[in-house]
Amino acid sequence: MSVIGHIINGEHIQGEGRTQAVYNPATGTAEGTVQLADTATVKHAISVAEAAFPAWRNTPPLKRARVMFKFKDLLEQHADKICELITDEHGKVLNDAMGELQRGIENVEYATAAPELLKGEHSKNAGPAIDAWSEFQPLGVVAAITPFNFPAMVPLWMWPMAVVCGNCVVLKPSERAPSAVKYIVELAHEAGLPKGVLNLVNGDKEAVDTLLQDRRVQAVSFVGSTPIAEYVYTEGNKHGKRVQALGGAKNHAIVMPDADMENTISALIGAAFGSCGERCMAISVAVAVGDEAANKLVSGLQAAMASIKTGTGRDNSNDMGPLITGEHRNKVRQYVDDGVAEGATLVVDGRDLSVSEHPNGFFMGPCLFDNVRPNMRIYREEIFGPVLCVVRVDTMEQAMQLINDHEFGNGTCIFTRDGEAARYFSDHIQVGMVGINVPLPVPMAFHSFGGWKRSLFGDLSAYGPDAVRFYTRRKTITQRWPSSGVREGAQFTFPS
Ligand code: NAD
Repeated sequence: MSVIGHIINGEHIQGEGRTQAVYNPATGTAEGTVQLADTATVKHAISVAEAAFPAWRNTPPLKRARVMFKFKDLLEQHADKICELITDEHGKVLNDAMGELQRGIENVEYATAAPELLKGEHSKNAGPAIDAWSEFQPLGVVAAITPFNFPAMVPLWMWPMAVVCGNCVVLKPSERAPSAVKYIVELAHEAGLPKGVLNLVNGDKEAVDTLLQDRRVQAVSFVGSTPIAEYVYTEGNKHGKRVQALGGAKNHAIVMPDADMENTISALIGAAFGSCGERCMAISVAVAVGDEAANKLVSGLQAAMASIKTGTGRDNSNDMGPLITGEHRNKVRQYVDDGVAEGATLVVDGRDLSVSEHPNGFFMGPCLFDNVRPNMRIYREEIFGPVLCVVRVDTMEQAMQLINDHEFGNGTCIFTRDGEAARYFSDHIQVGMVGINVPLPVPMAFHSFGGWKRSLFGDLSAYGPDAVRFYTRRKTITQRWPSSGVREGAQFTFPS
């Protein structure tokens, strides 16, 4: 059984102390253990990162970017292995893991633009013979804390941009899916990243709290559930850190009466049930405008769901893998029980699905509810499983009001043929990422990713241009040189 430790100063560290089992969710068996760093181990990683910072901050951005070019090649060369590691611990099908990795690689590609991104701003003759410029200096040691559901991609949203900006990083990934990220950190070192610039500590609350409280950590990037995101934001701020904390979601799709129903249904099936619904951008609510659209939508979804194939993620002919743990599967089942008890109509019931080759896997089939109401728990809370709720309304304004009233504001989309309605929707909806006939409007790496309301605590979104600002501190320099009389120069005469 593999023991997954830490990588500090480029060295593999097998610590002592607490460990946690790492499951293959398709088989339901523990196939490894991960070490949970204690405070001393995390503080050691911070010290190492702090020591590496002076040399790394003075390394020209071009040289930092060159490491990223090599790293990208290595990610591509070893993509199959990375995806197998993702699938064996997360459960998603290999094709889906490849999609995740591709989006991660795009963030590495963006990071190769560091020399361009860090050029700064310059004003010649801001005053008479006075020049002024703003430069973007690295912060020092930054922490990255990530969730289980994108074991490769979310860490790649963070640390490549942090390091090309000149920072040194302590990365604390999810203890539930630690192997892919560990392998990726090994590849980063193979690409030439100097020791100490990127350090990996596995762990749980103890490790996170140490990162939040240590005064040497300047900034924290977090992605995970909303209660923990809020805690990380508050606790980090309390200790004087810059924090961006991305949280949970309840993403709605509005289905207008004029929508292309066939394409809408196909898009919703992928967006609701891909990765078993364990995506922060998954569509978990479809708001149908008018009963005619609702009836067509529900019957179409029901028919399409009959052919969703659930099984091990190692078999690419499957559409959906298992959920992350048995405990989480039971929690999702409980939500479905609650929905039934609260009076929603369970049209497709996937609660008792079993996969014959893997009777102990954490599988659950896709579920569809109709007639869901805003006061129901299945509507209010993030389920993070393969459960799609249909809410019926009479007008687009009512659909938008529902979305604007919800506590989360991560992603949303509208399916329509009406450009005017789509434009009104994108202009007025209180959500950070909006799709128009696009069910999963995940921004490309050269934009930035972030929700509104309780889906993001902090001012700057993840990756893209916002990441350059998050991982740097602006300094503005104003300069003048006295005239020697030989050449034209600045005048120092008081009081001008
Ligand atoms: P989680 O909040 O349980 O864990 C996230 C990280 O926080 C992990 O590294 C974990 O070790 C740490 N953590 C857990 N409990 C903690 C505690 N009590 N104190 C301090 N640290 C703690 O989230 P998860 O289950 O791994 O991931 C799923 C959640 O992440 C969902 O809510 C999903 O919507 C969200 N998510 C959001 C985005 C986004 O971009 N907004 C992206 C992916 C996932």
